[in-house]
Amino acid sequence: MDFSLSQTQVHWRDRVKAFMDAHVFPNEERYEREVEEGARWKELPLVEELKAKAKAQGLWNLFMPPLQGHAPLNPDFRFESPGLTNLEYALCAEEMGKVKWASELFNCSPPDTGNMEVLTRYANADQQAAWLKPLMDGEIRSTFLMTEPAVASSDATNIETSIVRDGDDYVVDGRKWWSSGMGDPRVKIAIVMGKTDPGAAAHAQQSMILVPADAPGLTVEKMLTVFGYDHAPEGHGQVLLDKVRVPAGNMLLGEGRGFEIAQGRLGPGRIHHAMRSIGASERALEEMVRRLMTRVAFGKRIHEHSVWEERVAQARIDIEMTRLLCLKAADLMDREGNRAARTEIAMIKVAAPNTAVRVIDNAIQAFGGGGVSQVSHLAASYASQRTLRLADGPDEVHRRTIAKLEFRKYRDLIAE
Ligand SMILES: Cc1cc2nc3c(=O)[nH]c(=O)nc-3n(C[C@H](O)[C@H](O)[C@H](O)COP(=O)(O)OP(=O)(O)OC[C@H]3O[C@@H](n4cnc5c(N)ncnc54)[C@H](O)[C@@H]3O)c2cc1C
Repeated sequence: MDFSLSQTQVHWRDRVKAFMDAHVFPNEERYEREVEEGARWKELPLVEELKAKAKAQGLWNLFMPPLQGHAPLNPDFRFESPGLTNLEYALCAEEMGKVKWASELFNCSPPDTGNMEVLTRYANADQQAAWLKPLMDGEIRSTFLMTEPAVASSDATNIETSIVRDGDDYVVDGRKWWSSGMGDPRVKIAIVMGKTDPGAAAHAQQSMILVPADAPGLTVEKMLTVFGYDHAPEGHGQVLLDKVRVPAGNMLLGEGRGFEIAQGRLGPGRIHHAMRSIGASERALEEMVRRLMTRVAFGKRIHEHSVWEERVAQARIDIEMTRLLCLKAADLMDREGNRAARTEIAMIKVAAPNTAVRVIDNAIQAFGGGGVSQVSHLAASYASQRTLRLADGPDEVHRRTIAKLEFRKYRDLIAE
């Protein structure tokens, strides 16, 4: 076991880091200004400007690992990407995670990354040409419509949206919410999960279908807030699908294959969130330490009050443990595939946002009132990280996966 970084790992991490230092941190205020000016739901000039810069430097589609036994169905399909391994990308994503809007600049932001993986693995040549190509080129954005307000969607067998074949079309009916990205006018395509056969076995009822965002019958009923933040300019929508008609060729992979696709989609996506959460934790710790060392209370610098030694030390311990687990999960995905790494993916999906929430909470404390206000990014960062204990499945569901695998080791104890 060798814990040192390879030249390739250092090369890509440092290039992303240099881009962040040169173009992202210095533009945090401009980003907020552009969000605040005019309409809420829009394209931001800064983002398009920096996307072009990142692309020109080859810092593009870094999330897409070398294709492991699932080459695109269209042999002519080509996209720009250095083909980083999950392990190499993990180090880059940590850097991107320090600023909440940075991953998009490298075409590495959710939900597009998960959707692009789905289209790479499961879409046919026509679907890839229509939607994957412009997504990989950063020309359009996408959304993923699985969760529904009416049912406990952490158990996806509950999803009720209906997808019914009618001649050469499918007709889609249902209500979705938490459709991330839905406010962004660049969103042109949605991957929608719904039931094609309610009478089939539980895991064969669901399918996934491509629905253009401008399809008649698709309406955004409202945008949701997260602790009061609207997450403009992308946001999270509640979406009504009322007799939405799409060509039969929009079905992904085939009827009843929805769970198979969902598994393929969420493995990498979950670890990407974790990688960025580590970056958010690392930035919060740095800011906490700088603050504690430069303010005086009750006759000494705040860091000299011993309670802060305890908190800073615990943050460092938690971040290091979380990072090692994340890198282990990424390495296992590279060497043995996503399925073999499912316990590690579940563990890091729980560990990373929980660590971030604790570290950021203490950083907020160190900043006093400023920490919960708009003068610091910590309040927004806390709100975002807290959602990751729910998004892509709540903690309990991932703990269930981990516990099941653990119990399975001792199943002889309850055998007849
Ligand atoms: C910011 C944000 C962005 C999101 N983006 C998207 C998106 O782009 N697309 C999309 O489709 N969805 C998205 N989601 C939805 C998210 O994936 C769901 O909220 C999540 O899967 C939980 O489903 P639910 O809200 O229906 O909660 P429910 O399924 O109703 O669960 C509620 C609670 O029940 C408990 N619970 C569930 N199962 C168990 C169990 N086995 N044991 C013990 N307790 C359990 C958990 O505490 C859970 O939080 C997003 C959510 C948020 C907050």
